[in-house]
Amino acid sequence: MTSSTPVPQERKLVTELPGPASQALHARKGAAVAAGVGVGLPAYVVRAGGGILVDVDGNQLIDFGSGIAVTSVGNSAPRVVAAVTDQVADFTHTCFMVTPYEEYVEVCEQLAELTPGDHEKRSALFNSGAEAVENAVKVARTATGRTAVVAFEHGYHGRTNLTMGLTAKNMPYKHGFGPFAPEIYRAPMAYPLRWPGGAEQCADQAFAAFVDVVHSQVGESNTAAVIIEPIQGEGGFVVPPPGWLPRVADYCREHGIVLIADEIQTGFCRTGDWFACDHEGVVPDLITTAKGIAGGLPLAAVTGRADLMDSVHSGGLGGTYGGNPVACAAALGAIATMRAEDLPGRAQAIERLFRNRLEQLRSKYDVIAEIRGRGAMLAIELTAGAGDLTPNPTATAAINKHCHSQGLVTLTAGTYGNVFRFLPPLSSPDHLLEEGLDIIEDAFAQVLG
Ligand SMILES: *Cc1c(COP(=O)(O)O)cnc(C)c1O
Repeated sequence: MTSSTPVPQERKLVTELPGPASQALHARKGAAVAAGVGVGLPAYVVRAGGGILVDVDGNQLIDFGSGIAVTSVGNSAPRVVAAVTDQVADFTHTCFMVTPYEEYVEVCEQLAELTPGDHEKRSALFNSGAEAVENAVKVARTATGRTAVVAFEHGYHGRTNLTMGLTAKNMPYKHGFGPFAPEIYRAPMAYPLRWPGGAEQCADQAFAAFVDVVHSQVGESNTAAVIIEPIQGEGGFVVPPPGWLPRVADYCREHGIVLIADEIQTGFCRTGDWFACDHEGVVPDLITTAKGIAGGLPLAAVTGRADLMDSVHSGGLGGTYGGNPVACAAALGAIATMRAEDLPGRAQAIERLFRNRLEQLRSKYDVIAEIRGRGAMLAIELTAGAGDLTPNPTATAAINKHCHSQGLVTLTAGTYGNVFRFLPPLSSPDHLLEEGLDIIEDAFAQVLG
């Protein structure tokens, strides 16, 4: 099979899932890979592109996950493949801190141009989202001379020690892995569906609760940073009410607290704009990006106000592989694709297609308490139904399993495991999105009758 043949854009099942070749690989996985590295759908992939993943048995699966919001430009997107192929033939590594190269600088120039705000910016590149978050905290602490970091309930920021501490959910991310880094405080998240005082009161009361945590429990002058996902990812695509995020941003500015927007999942066209902060005109002091930035190659960044970023001593930021030239070439190819194909616009079109279908589904099933999200980052939250908001992880898991058996790669999320999140590649053609939604509709009918 040559890579020049495009991946056929159709679902095809030639075996049950997982097929025999995948099962054989999965047995090898069990004997060689640590059990802690879990797998959602053990169909072993050999090729992918557009909206399709091809497995080792020849099954063609519809992708509603993008490898967790990474392959927004598609798998093996042509500009990414070309840029990576050229780069890998030229040189693969020098370590930017030893002998630098243009690709790193160019990615930082692109980040300065694309991220919110027209102030002077600097960036530093890393390998993973968690590493970017760690470094954003390092910058905030150096710049302010303060130590405390305030994060939010339902937040997710990674799996390293500091970022586990920032992450809210215990299982599976934190369980048994403590003790965690100190000086992390958690404020209630503005989660309209589950706000105790009701959705109407959520913006005001959640803002007051946040201020109370900072003021009463931490102290403004001890607070280096507030870190927030403008739309929460793993926490279940929680969208705060309009106006709440700008108020948090104003409060931070007033008190010299560094606002870190963690846009690792929301960034790079996913929500129908370049960044989720753009929807409310919020300009964070620092922004962390990763996932969608490089078409599947590992790359992450911290971008922010030049005065903050440049407060760190020379040599204080870096790492052996951070901003690897192949990953940087991939990012430049991915960003060129986003511009050329207007992927923010494509994400908006995907939202229209999905919302229409999900509204129809909700009119049939009252277990769907809410449809939420933005662009091609949409979710439905499943509850007991009939106004009872008790989370329904059982139905969520059963529907998920059914989708997997039909060759649709779906992802769940949420602190209570009761959210379906939809993150299709922006390269997916409409007919695959419609077919995936047909499968979801069928799964609801199978599981809920
Ligand atoms: C995925 C994610 C991270 C962690 O990124 P890794 O590359 O897995 O370390 C951090 N923050 C958010 C919002 C994420 O979605």
